Amino acid sequence: MADVLKGLMNNLEDTDKEVYSTIKNELERQEHGLEMIPSESFISRAVMQALGSPMNNKYSEGYPGKRYYGGNQYIDVAENLAIERAKKLFSAEHVNVQPYSGSPANVAVYFALADFGDTLMGMRLDMGGHLTHGSPVNFTGKAYHFVSYGVDKKTGLLDMDEIRAIAKKEKPKIIVSGATAYPRTIDFKHFHEICEEIDAYSMADVSHIAGLIAGSAHPSPFPFTDVVTTTTHKTLCGPRGAMIMSRQEDRLKEIHHKGSKWNLAQLIDRAVFPGLQGGPHNHTNSAKAVAFGQALRPEFSVFARQIVKNAKALAEELISLDVRLVSGGTDNHLILVDLQNKGIKGKEAESALDKARITVNKNMIPYDPSTPFDPSGIRFGTPALTQRGMKESEMKQIAALMAKVLDNHDKPDVLKDVSEQVYELSSQFPLYPGLKL
Ligand SMILES: *Cc1c(COP(=O)(O)O)cnc(C)c1O
Repeated sequence: MADVLKGLMNNLEDTDKEVYSTIKNELERQEHGLEMIPSESFISRAVMQALGSPMNNKYSEGYPGKRYYGGNQYIDVAENLAIERAKKLFSAEHVNVQPYSGSPANVAVYFALADFGDTLMGMRLDMGGHLTHGSPVNFTGKAYHFVSYGVDKKTGLLDMDEIRAIAKKEKPKIIVSGATAYPRTIDFKHFHEICEEIDAYSMADVSHIAGLIAGSAHPSPFPFTDVVTTTTHKTLCGPRGAMIMSRQEDRLKEIHHKGSKWNLAQLIDRAVFPGLQGGPHNHTNSAKAVAFGQALRPEFSVFARQIVKNAKALAEELISLDVRLVSGGTDNHLILVDLQNKGIKGKEAESALDKARITVNKNMIPYDPSTPFDPSGIRFGTPALTQRGMKESEMKQIAALMAKVLDNHDKPDVLKDVSEQVYELSSQFPLYPGLKL
């Protein structure tokens, strides 16, 4: 374990023992537990090294070849590498790698294409959407008039007919597809067709599933979708950050941006800088280039497919142990459990699993009778476990351990016993240097 820190952090150990020992404790926690938050993954040492590099030191407002500061010849090379690799990875016409994270990336798109107060449409937070898809407590819900869609109460699936009906009635300027807690395949093509009917921009926020798309384990939103945003730190296994990918041309220029001299790509770039952000985080953007390079390798698609295989194996075994899954299963990396038949709420389940070294998060389920502070579900997934090299047989073991915790959440001796088994299991799959990607 200490190996990874030794190489990278011997100076830190000398100059700041408090921060060093905290990082060491966190690494130990990651290594000796099961990290199952579906939005989390591990960065490789190569990504970590680019992140902790002197690229951090440079100011470079602007874009490659058009900077407001001198001395950017190497920053330009790194940013162009990230852009070119992302284009190849997602077959994107245009890429902006400067957004600091997923939330500002989404805001930048709305800022680029809509005016404050315009009607936009996204998935409701308590149905699986993200805060930045127009939640009333979020900037996006205050700056724009968001109308929302959810999932079907019976099936837990997106109801495309209903989405089309809402879109035709409300005429949003942008329809956002994508979610943070949806375990099934998203039909991006269908979303785009609805957008074409009402002259709306189609925007796909693929933050959770970007790695699956890159590895051909989920259908791509391109070539049809107008704008695609994604974080780079979830299934893409890169540094914390985001990017915006888009078509080059503004398909709706005559309708929404008449007389404008900018195409779609330029609208996006101008919204990120100078519209929303200042200097790009060059260490992060260099690390994005490294992560995209990793994702372009053939073994990444083997990995992406294994994430899905593992999630399906985990789901199947949980169902056989009387654990209820929203939508009855999964097509991707993520599982949403409805705990209502277990006599336990999300908060309690999260804390009992935590005691057993299994990290998940409490989560609202569609039509949740309870509140966001103590919802009726938990959400988890397989990206981080898959990175450690775990396969279907480990998923079966893990499902049994999870079900045992849920059924014995108030028995400290059972939790302790499971925690010891988890320690044992995770020790067989060392994090660094054993990381498969
Ligand atoms: C994680 C996520 C985001 C936000 O990313 P941050 O980097 O946490 O701001 C946006 N949209 C979706 C769908 C996400 O899952």
